[in-house]
Amino acid sequence: MRRWLVPVATALATALLVAYLASLRTVKVERGSLLMETAVRVVAYGPQGRAGAAVEAALAELARLEGLWHPQKPESDVARVNAAAGAAPVAVAPETIEVVTAALEIAAATDGAFDPTIGPLVQAWGFGGESRLPSAAERAAAATLVDWRQVQVNPEAQTLFLARPGMVLDLGAIAKGDAAARAREVLRRQGITAGLVQVGGSVATLGRRPDGEPWSIAIQHPRREQDYLTILSLDEGFVDTAGDYQRYFEHEGVRYHHILDPRTGMPARGLASVTVLTNRGDQADALATAAFVLGPEAGYRFLEQRGVSAILVTTGGEVSMTPDLAGRVQVDVGPWP
Ligand code: AMP
Ligand code: MG
Repeated sequence: MRRWLVPVATALATALLVAYLASLRTVKVERGSLLMETAVRVVAYGPQGRAGAAVEAALAELARLEGLWHPQKPESDVARVNAAAGAAPVAVAPETIEVVTAALEIAAATDGAFDPTIGPLVQAWGFGGESRLPSAAERAAAATLVDWRQVQVNPEAQTLFLARPGMVLDLGAIAKGDAAARAREVLRRQGITAGLVQVGGSVATLGRRPDGEPWSIAIQHPRREQDYLTILSLDEGFVDTAGDYQRYFEHEGVRYHHILDPRTGMPARGLASVTVLTNRGDQADALATAAFVLGPEAGYRFLEQRGVSAILVTTGGEVSMTPDLAGRVQVDVGPWP
């Protein structure tokens, strides 16, 4: 009598099984956004539901870190530390203590060529708003307030203190890479085994692509906007590029860009871009900027000593690479500039 029941039940079970198996299939979920004043991109491979949730969680992490480190958000750790410069230590998040500690380590290692208290100079040049050429007097006045030795980190009390009034903490050279590394760990904690987080010129990769191929990361050509310098293949790691083309203005035929040399108060000269490859996420971003400030020779030696793979391009279009890359990476600058 109920003979129809068996085929219907079978069809239903088959449909459910197919739907279930489809939900387990590995897909690529990718989302972009604008955070930390740059384009961000998060990719995760996995079952649709899990990959989607992981991408959302990674983007939420980036937004949270922006809330801690954005100098223009009055409630951010950085804004509160700056407002209390010369007055009082300020309680901050553990992530802020960690990123500032990492920045100070690079500052010490570069004898202050990299300096996270570069803020007054960045403001004098107007990078982040209306850029302009400051007078020598303005540059000199700002430079007296740039001194990483006057940052007091208290890990027990979890406080930061800028010892002199007018000092300005600026994490612009390290925040994006550190955030990318932290967002990558969010993907990992969500059970993702293959993914990628990009925050501007900072890329953090997780695992290997499901097809077994390494990640391909295109490196921007410093003088041709629509072109890349090379494509790097890597498994899990970090790639970071600092360049004079990211934020700049031209005045009487001279390019003035946003990476400043604290020793001169002027944009660092000699390099057009520095790309580093490393497996330490708290360093890639800062190291690229640090080497950029140090210049072609000192910058190269600095990266080589730290065991970091690197590609440096000078403003004259000459390319140098650490020996480990020299054999396997093709770089073509083409007609220059
Ligand atoms: P990046 O794009 O990572 O090379 O970082 C550039 C940003 O870092 C600038 O926009 C400034 O906010 C900041 N910055 C500029 N010069 C320096 C420097 N010498 N040391 C540390 N941070 C810097
Ligand atoms: Mg950097």
